[in-house]
Amino acid sequence: MEEEGGEEYLFKIVVIGDSAVGKSNLLSRFARDEFDANSKATIGVEFQTQVVQVDGKEVKAQVWDTAGQERFRAVTSAYYRGAVGHCDTTVARMLVGNKCDLENIREVSVEEGKGLAEEEGLFFIETSALDSTNVIAAFEIVIRAIYSNISRKML
Ligand code: GDP
Ligand code: MG
Repeated sequence: MEEEGGEEYLFKIVVIGDSAVGKSNLLSRFARDEFDANSKATIGVEFQTQVVQVDGKEVKAQVWDTAGQERFRAVTSAYYRGAVGHCDTTVARMLVGNKCDLENIREVSVEEGKGLAEEEGLFFIETSALDSTNVIAAFEIVIRAIYSNISRKML
């Protein structure tokens, strides 16, 4: 669709996970190249946007942040409506292991992460919002996958 900023696509992406795993910082690193060492717990939901190029097309990624409340089932399906990062055939899902800069206190091995992702049919990547490792790459992989799913559907 044609957006105000001239972007040709708008993709809604939802970031979910336990409190303090770094969801908000992944968003702020991606959208504003910022990191907050003292970030407050997210209240409710909010989103940030970033425009990326895919195949010479402008894609606006609207990335929704959460407070980790979905584990308490407080988030209804309305939250995911229209999210092409969720559960139909155009959906792309990724398991993100954040804080990979903290190698010395790692609790989950890369192999364990990869294994789970394979079992569940997810992309897998390790990131660090702190030192920027793979943050843009993570979002780009999801965005490209959504783009190619949509392109295939439109054929
Ligand atoms: P959220 O609750 O999942 O949104 O987590 P936050 O983004 O608020 O981050 C929780 C805490 O982890 C904050 O103190 C962040 O500064 C810290 N943090 C987030 N990402 C990273 C990371 O990649 N590496 C390290 N070392 N700390 C991080
Ligand atoms: Mg947060």
